[in-house]
Amino acid sequence: MARYTDPVCRLCRNEGTKLFLKGSRCYTVKCGIERRRYGPGQHGQNRKKQSEFAVQLREKQKVRQFFGMLEGQFSAYMSEAQRQKKVPTGLKLLQLCETRLDNVVHRSGMCPSRAQARQLILHGHFLVDGKKVAIASYKLKSNQVVSVREKSQKLIKELIAGSPVAGGPSWLKSDLENLTVSVVNPPTREDLDPTIKEALIVEYYSR
Ligand code: SF4
Repeated sequence: MARYTDPVCRLCRNEGTKLFLKGSRCYTVKCGIERRRYGPGQHGQNRKKQSEFAVQLREKQKVRQFFGMLEGQFSAYMSEAQRQKKVPTGLKLLQLCETRLDNVVHRSGMCPSRAQARQLILHGHFLVDGKKVAIASYKLKSNQVVSVREKSQKLIKELIAGSPVAGGPSWLKSDLENLTVSVVNPPTREDLDPTIKEALIVEYYSR
């Protein structure tokens, strides 16, 4: 599977915002964007005014990288969001991203970063409704319970102890004592990051 292998702090610096891709380090003074608050590369400090297209593209890239997805997967989520008519397209896109297994494991506080959550899921440390699921993009439905395989509980407890993410958002029910988490309901717009401008992403894909 294709994957991004360059330094991930460049992604944050390119978007001009923290994407929290490196776990605990993102919450310290060692964070790349705290040390160099300008874009990466030779011309990083002389950025020009962005066109309308560039603004849409950057918003799309920011959200895609925040959830650690490649373009193909992200545009497939957008197609799925566009096909349904019950929920506004932008909100549905964010709900699809948020209810991925790797994101839920990270948001619950069991793993300091989505990348680490993805790796642990691929290694079979997590169960969904008691069955091993090794697919990071697995889409969780409401009330499905994510738990930790018995042999892996010590490892996950160590990660929780060192995790800077305390407690999950209100749309998740996490019990870190018993190492379980479930989606109560898909997040509403009020539950999500207010700085995300999903309308720009919808416009980007509607060109
Ligand atoms: Fe981004 Fe984390 Fe690197 Fe800071 S430390 S620039 S938040 S990946």
